[in-house]
Amino acid sequence: MKTLGLLGGMSWESTVTYYRLINEGVKRELGGLHSAKLLLHSVDFAEIEACQSAGDWDRAADILGDAALGLPEGGADYIVICTNTMHKVSPQIESRLSVPLIHIADATAGALRRAGVRRAALLGTKYTMTQEFYRGRLAEHGLEVMVPEPKDMELVNRVIFDELCLGVISPRSRDGYMRIIDGLASRGAEAVILGCTEIGMLVGSADSPIPVFDTTVIHAEKAVELALADEPGKRQKVDRAGELW
Ligand code: GLU
Repeated sequence: MKTLGLLGGMSWESTVTYYRLINEGVKRELGGLHSAKLLLHSVDFAEIEACQSAGDWDRAADILGDAALGLPEGGADYIVICTNTMHKVSPQIESRLSVPLIHIADATAGALRRAGVRRAALLGTKYTMTQEFYRGRLAEHGLEVMVPEPKDMELVNRVIFDELCLGVISPRSRDGYMRIIDGLASRGAEAVILGCTEIGMLVGSADSPIPVFDTTVIHAEKAVELALADEPGKRQKVDRAGELW
């Protein structure tokens, strides 16, 4: 099994989900007492968010690049940045690394394309919903990306930073997200991308009239797939209900 190097803490609420999903994936594939080999460098999200608010992406890239350096030194074969937004500085981080980085937007686009989706709605932070580093990356994979109206984008962004990253789950915010997803579906979105690693704490498939692609789940599954690529003891792939794929 390869060793995964996680850059987490953004927020730690979703890093917990990554840790659980990756271990569940390895257990599912290898069975018994198997668990993931991984290293985690968890940063102080307040420092990162301050850089985001100030538009100081160079400083954020330096902090995360410094943090990531220790992961290959500790034996990591792959790097996983446990947030969509901070993939904005993934080129700067990657340029300092000797091992590959598993890009969250590439993994997500792959899942959408395999499902036959061409036009998808994107929910995430305001940076992710509006900036090229993410939308452009999805478009490079042939996807058409739709985002909410400006006022709804504001709501989606506010709920992420003021609630989800603090572990607050509000039924009222869930209703707001459901209304926004409904609107995007009626504008022609074939699927919705939960393009922020905390959104899966608030909404899921049951809350949406169109298929939901949760980037945390997709990214964690991709990391498991690569970690176990050369593993001879892998089980036949089964889904969570135990059915054959
Ligand atoms: N975890 C979030 C994301 O996936 C937001 C926190 C951040 O700004 O990194 O984008």
